[in-house]
Amino acid sequence: MNVYDSEQMALILGQDYELTERAEDADLYLINTCSIRRKSEEKVLSLLGRLKTLKQERPQMLLGVGGCVAQQEGARLLHKVPHLDLVFGTQGVYRLPELLRRRRETNRRLVDTAFSPELPNICGQSLPGALQKFVTIMQGCDNYCTYCVVPYVRGPERSRPVADIVREVEVFLGQGGREVTLLGQNVNSYGRGLAGEITFPALLGRLAELPGLARLRFTTSHPRDLSEELIRGFAELPPLCEHIHLPVQSGANQILARMHRGYRREDYLERVSRLREACPGIALSTDLIVGFPGETESDFQDTLRLMQEAAFDGAFFFKYSPRPQTAAAAFPDQVPESVKTERLARLKEVQEQLSLASNQRLLGEVREVLVEGFSKLENTQLSGRLRSNHVVNFDGPQELIGQMVRVRIKRAYLHSLGALLCED
Ligand code: SAM
Ligand code: SF4
Repeated sequence: MNVYDSEQMALILGQDYELTERAEDADLYLINTCSIRRKSEEKVLSLLGRLKTLKQERPQMLLGVGGCVAQQEGARLLHKVPHLDLVFGTQGVYRLPELLRRRRETNRRLVDTAFSPELPNICGQSLPGALQKFVTIMQGCDNYCTYCVVPYVRGPERSRPVADIVREVEVFLGQGGREVTLLGQNVNSYGRGLAGEITFPALLGRLAELPGLARLRFTTSHPRDLSEELIRGFAELPPLCEHIHLPVQSGANQILARMHRGYRREDYLERVSRLREACPGIALSTDLIVGFPGETESDFQDTLRLMQEAAFDGAFFFKYSPRPQTAAAAFPDQVPESVKTERLARLKEVQEQLSLASNQRLLGEVREVLVEGFSKLENTQLSGRLRSNHVVNFDGPQELIGQMVRVRIKRAYLHSLGALLCED
């Protein structure tokens, strides 16, 4: 979502600015921020500290902070950081040209964290030459999970009209794009509040028919709202890739209840079985939080057990971080930092075994890869993803970048696969 928002900023400002690789060349330096955990917030302040010298050397360069930390902190950021020119919240992105003009003309430092219940006017263009694209289909969230700051910094849930989404995808495909990932905090409730009846699976059906769309993905799907119709979509819609990110957060029922997640571990595992029945081989990834208030050792072991039962192919895991305004931040039974650290390490170990096993299961298989570029580690090798989202690296000519090719999987590592290009 932040990648998409940053892309929106670049597109919205495209008439007045172009992107530069080097900060020393910039006339405008924008930092897009995340406040989901405190650590990301701290990183913003430390980056701003490091930029003080650059701003002294280039006083004409405008420095702005946008996104969730900006939304949350507003004018406090201007007080904390005297060399900052502009603070703009999650909806301020769409008012950037006007804000920058005002900053230049009035010479006053500005804050814009205004929030409107209306969906902002998403620009809907794509950066030229991109193969893959994120497309926002909804903004905000009404779920109020007790740990989560999103409803406070991104506002209520609002769905984008189908016609706008279809147009954005069509234009992208017309420019040579191949893969689209639909974005929303809870894509399963897409369509609520829109005129005319449209569900998320129906939207997927519409997009799957567009000529040229090779791969369709989405994130994030809330386990509570995962419908049978959506599960069937994996079997029935050819571009829909065989991978789902389904954040479970915890494997203990008392924790799930206190998080306000609206499902039990049994419900989650039952949905996983249904997904695997409808779409054998579907890859499953998740998000997990350790050290949520009140999490006991036995709760944590329930999480480790659930990981084994669900056999996740991949997982993102986080130490619980108390966030402003959220209910859980005020729960009395906070877990000590040392316990969180120890549980995170144990959880990582279990997931590493599962991720390696997931990669090993693919040994010997022939699979389709969308070649995205060069490998990050060995930049003489090509790199891409399988439909299941596994990363694969292999030798091949540079001209293959952007193409769909077939490879045979030869090696399985922890975070990637090694393969040979098929001759046919
Ligand atoms: N909407 C998605 C959902 O409901 O699954 C997730 C959105 S959130 C931006 C991404 C992940 O951050 C969550 O799934 C959760 O694991 C993690 N997260 C959110 N708030 C957190 C907190 N206060 N402390 C630690 N992790 C958190
Ligand atoms: Fe946060 Fe996701 Fe829960 Fe919404 S559904 S409150 S974004 S964790």
